[in-house]
Parts: sequence; structure tokens; C-alpha cells
Amino acid sequence: MLLGTGGTIAGRAAEAADNVGYVAGQVDVAEFVAAVPALDEAPLDVEQIAQIDSKDMGLGVWQALVRRIAAHLERQEVKAVIVTHGTDTIEETAFLLQSLLRPAKPVVLTCAMRPSTALMPDGPQNLSDAVVVARYEGAVGVVVVCAGQVHGARDVAKVHTYRLDAFDSGDAGPLACVEEGRVRAFRNWDSAGEDRPFDTKARARFLAIKELPRVELITSHADADGSLVRGLLALRHERPLRGIVVAGTGNGTVHSALTKALNDAQAQGVRVRLTSRCVNGRVVPHPGLAFEDAGGLSPVKARLALALDLLEV
Ligand code: ASP
Repeated sequence: MLLGTGGTIAGRAAEAADNVGYVAGQVDVAEFVAAVPALDEAPLDVEQIAQIDSKDMGLGVWQALVRRIAAHLERQEVKAVIVTHGTDTIEETAFLLQSLLRPAKPVVLTCAMRPSTALMPDGPQNLSDAVVVARYEGAVGVVVVCAGQVHGARDVAKVHTYRLDAFDSGDAGPLACVEEGRVRAFRNWDSAGEDRPFDTKARARFLAIKELPRVELITSHADADGSLVRGLLALRHERPLRGIVVAGTGNGTVHSALTKALNDAQAQGVRVRLTSRCVNGRVVPHPGLAFEDAGGLSPVKARLALALDLLEV
């Protein structure tokens, strides 16, 4: 099954030479597949779930994706699900799907950095590679395929604004690469960073909600103060504030003024989790950390993890 959600892979620009001034989410996934000769022999069924720029990704499309992917994975004749998605938030969708589905069959997210109308678009190759990965014997769980690399849902992050190989898996490294239609695995995929326990009821709770528990993301920086936190607390009546993820400096240090405001928030029942704003590495836990450590997740993934955890309460 191939599910389309939009993104640059389905984007169109007025000029073939224009790789940035395009509109994402324009080309239907069926049209897109028909234009990739390498997919002629792949038995692909397609379904358009959404047609958006992934900067606007949110609960509605996520719920539709979770529902449809779960339904397709249950069909015996479906060996894998591929999802086309914008690059901007693909890491969040990958993490969310892995957290809620923990699929035994592969769910392969793919994307493009250039619109379909570009002189040399990268989408067709990425989609061909995604099909290769979807058919690979050892493939399991949610992965992201881009620029010939296969990244695990937990580790993948977009690290470049423009380059075709815009993704990285940090210290963990990619799970595999795709070389001329073949997968070369670097390690065992089923152990790809699964340190969060799988909660089988979380999916049902997620599908039943109208909005995610509100979790805000705040960065610590030089000259920081606690005013954003105090503002959030003051506006609590509009939509209850349930959690804050703080992207700390270095190994999870937080400006003292912001720490004070976050302690006040905690005292008022707001859950606070700590991540690092560093691009690489993870917060190494130690007793001196000011707040609960987010288990090495990036700030945006820690935000989702906390929102999912708060669904239980
Ligand atoms: N803004 C686009 C999106 O995320 C970027 C891309 O797909 O590369 O949908």
C-alpha cells in the first residue's frame, strides 16, 4: 500500500529550475507513481490520505494515517505500507507511528527535497528506494528512506534545509543504505532504539481524542528568562497546559531564571521533561539534572512522547 500525504515530493513549481519557490502537496500520489517507470512492476495500491505541506501536520492527518495504516497492516496480502510525506515533520510522524503501531511489517516513510517539477527531482528515486526497503526481508517497524539511506523512527532528524541528503540518525547512524536496488543493512532493525515500552491501549486513546494534551516546547539560551513559561501558565484557562519540554543547553542544563519558572510550573501540576538543544548526543542522566530526562529523544519527539504519555492520565 502506498499512502500519500503531500509534501515536496508531491510539490509543483512554476519553473523547473526552481527548487525552493514551489507549493508542496499538489500532485496526487497515483499520478506520482505513474510517472516513476521503476515502479511499473511493483504491485502498489494507492490511497490519498491528505495533500498538505507537512509543516501543517497535526492530529487529524495523524489519526487518519494511524487508522488506515493499522487497517492495511492487518490485511494478509499487504506486505508493507509506504507513506509519502513532507520532509519538515517526517521525523515526528515516524516517531508517532512507531509509538502507536510498533508494526511487525515495514512502514516506510519517504519524501523529497525537490518538487516533482524540478530538473532533477529526488522523489522518484526515493520512492523507488522505499519500495526496495518495503520488500526487504529484514525490514520491520517504521523507517524513513531518503537519499539512499534508511533511518529508524527514533533516531532520524532533518538536519539540513536544502541538501538532498537532509537526514541524519545522529550517534546511532542509519539502519541501512539502498544501493542500486539492494538494501545493505548496517545493523539489526528490530532493536532500533526501542527503549519506550509499547502501550497497546495508547492507539485507541489517541484515535478517540479531539486534541492532543497541550505540551509546549521551550528552548533555554543565553539571556533566557521565565516569561514564556509564566505566560503559558497565565493562559491555562484557554487550553490546559499539561506539559513542557525544555530543550536545554549542552547536557541538559537550563538557565537559572527559566529553571525557576519551570519549577513553578511543575508545582502547578505541569509535567516538565528535559532534552538538549545540541544536534548530536543525548542528555546523559545524572542526579543533578533539574528535570525528568526525556530518554535521549530530540525535543520535538520528546514533546510527542510526553503528549502520548499524558493520554493515559
Ligand atoms: N515543506 C515541505 C513539507 O514538509 C518540505 C519538504 O517536503 O521537503 O511538506
